[in-house]
Amino acid sequence: MKVLITGVAGQDGYYLSRLLAPRHDVVGIDRRGKCDVDGVTAIKGDITDSVAMANIVRDVEPDWVFNLAAQSFVGTSWQSPKLYMDTNAVGVLNVLEAVRQYSPRARVVQASTSEMYGTLTAPADETTPFAPASPYGVSKVAAHHLCQVYRESYGMHISCAISFNHESPRRPAHFVTRKVTDAASRRERVTLGNINSARDWGYAEDYMKAYILMAEQDKPDDYVIATGKTHTIGDLCKAAYGDDWGQWVLSSELEERPNDVNYLAANPAKAARSLGWRAETTFEELIDMMKGGVLV
Ligand code: NDP
Repeated sequence: MKVLITGVAGQDGYYLSRLLAPRHDVVGIDRRGKCDVDGVTAIKGDITDSVAMANIVRDVEPDWVFNLAAQSFVGTSWQSPKLYMDTNAVGVLNVLEAVRQYSPRARVVQASTSEMYGTLTAPADETTPFAPASPYGVSKVAAHHLCQVYRESYGMHISCAISFNHESPRRPAHFVTRKVTDAASRRERVTLGNINSARDWGYAEDYMKAYILMAEQDKPDDYVIATGKTHTIGDLCKAAYGDDWGQWVLSSELEERPNDVNYLAANPAKAARSLGWRAETTFEELIDMMKGGVLV
């Protein structure tokens, strides 16, 4: 099996390529041509370059394509909305077109996101309407719909993982889980925005196992990938610092987003039923792993 992974040097690319490299021929695309995982062939590529993407797909002729490359941090999408649209929407179009032209039978898994929903009032499943609240969310909704249109118009095997937040010791410093766990491991104070914001946080490697199961299915489909358990940022601080967490956490409006998604909750029943997938790592295990800072 030949596997092409875009965004291979990111958090998810690391875990996915580590799972796949022992069994498959894995080629990873990164803008610097870099990948930390042994056995992966890393090549330079930018998904916003349609010609480069077409050439890569033509040369590699992949059986599976995992499209993970993106501008992935919601917070800066208000500062660079065009970059987010160019990368996360037009970049996905470039990948889909390259596959359609040069490897139309390849199975594609697209990294969609819970941020497509905006603030929810009940746990979301695959039928919940999208109402994105950030330029990031809008760019991902566009990509998600493009994937559905290509699947339905051309009969391509394209599945979308509507993934809720997933973390690991490889999460960059600007993400709230990393910020809190780093500060807590040093017993330092941390300044945060809205501590009542609620998310469903899981462990990245568990989620990459779901992506592989999606590629293995005979029929393409969309799946909510999540733990099904929601925690607030306050819960995150408590898990990281302990019961006296309130002493360590400062709040500042400067840390707040122009339009925060206050509540995200998931119903991953379809993934359990159809893929036999469930998140294995608990919230507490995840926070401990991140506090330890050890790459696992
Ligand atoms: P990361 O930001 O860690 O990885 C994304 C990778 O994409 C980076 O290595 C980045 O490289 C690369 N990239 C950015 N722009 C381009 C480009 N134009 N061409 C090629 N590569 C590019 O994100 P994650 O691994 O956490 O997430 C993977 C995917 O899953 C993303 O699409 C994200 O939006 C989505 N997702 C993630 C969730 C999560 O909680 N982790 C939740 C839901 C969806 P560079 O260093 O060059 O910028």
